[in-house]
Amino acid sequence: MTAANDRRPATILAQALGWIDEATGGLAPGIQPSSTFLRDADNQYRRGFSYGRDSNPTYLQAEAVLAALEGGAGALLFASGMAAATAVFQSLRPGDHVLAPVTMYWGLRKWLADEARRWGLAVDFVPNGDLAALEGALLPGKTRLVWLETPANPTWDIADIAASARLAHEAGAMLAVDNTVPTPLLTRPLELGADLVMHAATKYLNGHSDLIAGVLVTARHDAAWQRIAATRHDGGAILGSFEAWLLLRGLRTLAVRLDRQCATAQHLAERFSGHPGVVRVLYPGLASHPRHAVARAQMQGGFGGMLSLRVAGGERAAIALAARLAVWKRATSLGGVESLVEHRASIEGPGTPCPTDLLRLSVGLEAPEDLQADLEQALAAL
Ligand SMILES: *Cc1c(COP(=O)(O)O)cnc(C)c1O
Repeated sequence: MTAANDRRPATILAQALGWIDEATGGLAPGIQPSSTFLRDADNQYRRGFSYGRDSNPTYLQAEAVLAALEGGAGALLFASGMAAATAVFQSLRPGDHVLAPVTMYWGLRKWLADEARRWGLAVDFVPNGDLAALEGALLPGKTRLVWLETPANPTWDIADIAASARLAHEAGAMLAVDNTVPTPLLTRPLELGADLVMHAATKYLNGHSDLIAGVLVTARHDAAWQRIAATRHDGGAILGSFEAWLLLRGLRTLAVRLDRQCATAQHLAERFSGHPGVVRVLYPGLASHPRHAVARAQMQGGFGGMLSLRVAGGERAAIALAARLAVWKRATSLGGVESLVEHRASIEGPGTPCPTDLLRLSVGLEAPEDLQADLEQALAAL
């Protein structure tokens, strides 16, 4: 018999590793909200729990599922994706050098450019997926961390994780990958050589737009991971018990949700490529994507549920197109069951590398025909 965490991802997800509640036999876990736990008479904490900021029984199953999916040695839940990502950088020392892509999740890019620098990290941004630029920007002995996001928000540029890991390691740096968009079902960065994986669990992992959460998964229980765990514990950016339970519930349907989202996104990307109202469709599953071959090699089972349209007629036409959509909802975020559209440049503001004619689409679970027809009527009306 195979161990539960060696089974295929869809099985791990549907059964949440097959854990059964010991006290009741429940297939669904209980929620343990206690902030404090009883000491044994001899002053020990043999059951492993002392205080809610140290560890929380409701976390254990969700963290075990996420570690198994990513093929990691351990996982830590955080209060948000940003809390998870910033814990990685806060575990470094002032003066350490880090590299991140030019195009990436805007909130983290802004935090790196402002807060991380104020705090003493030396931060440089490198063009996405450009291995020669990455090699040139690495400072051996000084660069501690390389951050990747692939496919990268909101242009869906692709970076070669295995090649980036080799370059980072040669320079003595760790590689961390924001795997929010592909999820471990499409890409497993640790198997490609990454040291850390981060997710905004807010997005696909939970998948129902009703929770903010983050997670880090590590390849090894090493000193760097201990410092990250201390950052969560001491800084206190922990997830609530109810949210951890909700995340575990959302995870159980991830495999079917993502399959459908990938299929619909691929269909829409092909359908609107060459449409007279669209200058370009940005999607790694299109043969016309500049790094389609790299995406094919490191993504399995699809190219994700996110695509962007560069709209003919520029910024005003893009905003007018979003206004005419009825099925697609104008809202930020991604990875939920409902399809969302967003003009990213106006939310990111000055300094954004995002083209002003770009609309970001997060494909949900609606009938693909309705999503397509809605885009067609809005484009025809322009
Ligand atoms: C949403 C998101 C984040 C931040 O997550 P929060 O839960 O909103 O803090 C980071 N990276 C990516 C790719 C995201 O989509």
